[in-house]
Amino acid sequence: MKNKRIAIIGGGTAGWLAANHLGRELQADPEIEITLIESEDVPIIGVGEGTVPFIKTSMQKFGISEADLILSCETTFKYGIKFQNWMDAGKPGAEHFYYHPFASPYPGGVDVTPHWLSEPVRPFSDVSSSTRLAEAMRSPKRIESPAYEGAVDYAYHVNAHKFAALLSRNAMQRFGVQHLRATVVGAERAPDGDIEVLITKSGERLVFDFFVDCSGFASLLTQGALKVPFVDKSHQILTDTALVQQVPLKAGAEIPPYTLATAHAAGWIWDIPVTERRGTGFVYASAYMSHEEAVTSFARYLGVPADSFAPRQIAMKIGYRKQSWTQNCMALGLAQGFVEPLEATSILLTDFAAGLLARNFPRFGSDAPPLRDHVNDALTYAWERIIDFVQLHYHISDRSDSEFWRDNRQACHLSDVLRGRLAKWSAGHPHQTDFFSRFDLFSVENYLYVLNGMRYPTRGFPISAAEHKDGRQRLAHVDAATQALIRELPGHRAWLEGLRAAAARGTQPA
Ligand SMILES: Cc1cc2nc3c(=O)[nH]c(=O)nc-3n(C[C@H](O)[C@H](O)[C@H](O)COP(=O)(O)OP(=O)(O)OC[C@H]3O[C@@H](n4cnc5c(N)ncnc54)[C@H](O)[C@@H]3O)c2cc1C
Repeated sequence: MKNKRIAIIGGGTAGWLAANHLGRELQADPEIEITLIESEDVPIIGVGEGTVPFIKTSMQKFGISEADLILSCETTFKYGIKFQNWMDAGKPGAEHFYYHPFASPYPGGVDVTPHWLSEPVRPFSDVSSSTRLAEAMRSPKRIESPAYEGAVDYAYHVNAHKFAALLSRNAMQRFGVQHLRATVVGAERAPDGDIEVLITKSGERLVFDFFVDCSGFASLLTQGALKVPFVDKSHQILTDTALVQQVPLKAGAEIPPYTLATAHAAGWIWDIPVTERRGTGFVYASAYMSHEEAVTSFARYLGVPADSFAPRQIAMKIGYRKQSWTQNCMALGLAQGFVEPLEATSILLTDFAAGLLARNFPRFGSDAPPLRDHVNDALTYAWERIIDFVQLHYHISDRSDSEFWRDNRQACHLSDVLRGRLAKWSAGHPHQTDFFSRFDLFSVENYLYVLNGMRYPTRGFPISAAEHKDGRQRLAHVDAATQALIRELPGHRAWLEGLRAAAARGTQPA
């Protein structure tokens, strides 16, 4: 039987990313109809505001102009993440911040890590221009840069509600996705186990052939109707709660083009500027810090009085569904799983998984089993490696000032893959060939920045005088290029305001 009627349940970022991916991939088939069902009673979570550069590929694929993305979502640029206080502050000479930028760590295509390991006189992230451009608060784009291109690579910070609304407009207008406002209260299954019918609060029975569960932490079909087991990862990732607060931006001040991630005694704080405000969040492990301590510590960070401070609290369930795709239903977004917000992995994995589903969509029910196995295998691998990458930041920290940090270093379970990789990287730094799969969504360049940024003890080997000379020359070349870019590129705020002014005159780029 042909899968003609697709229902996406949920109108958050995951639901609308799925609508665009499926709409784009299946648009040439006139028999396929996509309907997104969204409850008016359940708001979207509204906190996914940091992205990684992968989002640019999807936005271009969906036909969304970069100017539209920037003007309609309070968008700012993101060079990467600045990690503050993730290392032991008590150590003489210890760095108190490091960067994980979206930039190649290979100047001129050459791996200078052996040179840096034997002469670590400056931050590793100086192998690219990005972090110094970020510190200088420059735009990564020139005024005349083509859409989705800059002098260096970048991602965005967005207002999550406005981003979902932009994706929604695009899916409906460009790909003909239908939007139905209804609360789903139940599902009926056929004798073969497939879901057949959704039942709404107003008593309607809606029949579809294929379902995409984007219902957020509720995981309505995947957990509810299909009872897919949850792979709990709370023994690897100890944080489980977030306090969330929006605060004003300082009027007229420069807008940092990076996410600031500041570690504290039992987790970390995100600080994400969009053009109209800052989105901040205090992530913590409730087994190591009480709610009262968390509120007080968050209030101190924001410089507000603790006694009248009442941030929104979000419980985070850490882990993922054993199968993302079960029977005729695929889970995406928070319905599929969640690690924690560090490194903005959630929109990335959702976008990636939605694209994977669209490319492997079973046109006929009988096509499904091998496609389903492939998608499930790929996503289980991707989940496990994302958990490794997030856990890495906690595990290799040398902080020992609280039980939280001590347990992360010593008592936490590590996957065999991460344990093996860390052992190998003690003996020598990471190479591309350590990453066997394209489902390693964080790969050698990400690991190089984090491991070297956190001074992971990697054995360096003697290198020749010629190699040292070459390394020094390459870094000097990056320094010169960086200084030229700092002079040439507009300020971050100036670039964004320039686009807004051009839009007001009707002359913004397509
Ligand atoms: C604290 C925190 C911080 C985060 N920060 C980041 C970040 O910086 N970067 C990043 O990439 N990700 C981040 N994430 C993850 C990000 O928020 C999500 O990936 C993203 O918002 C997608 O959410 P969603 O669409 O799966 O769920 P939601 O936004 O919760 O949407 C769920 C949808 O399902 C609908 N729904 C629910 N029940 C029913 C029902 N019964 N009937 C019909 N519809 C229903 C709701 O109406 C809603 O439309 C963060 C998450 C948390 C918890």
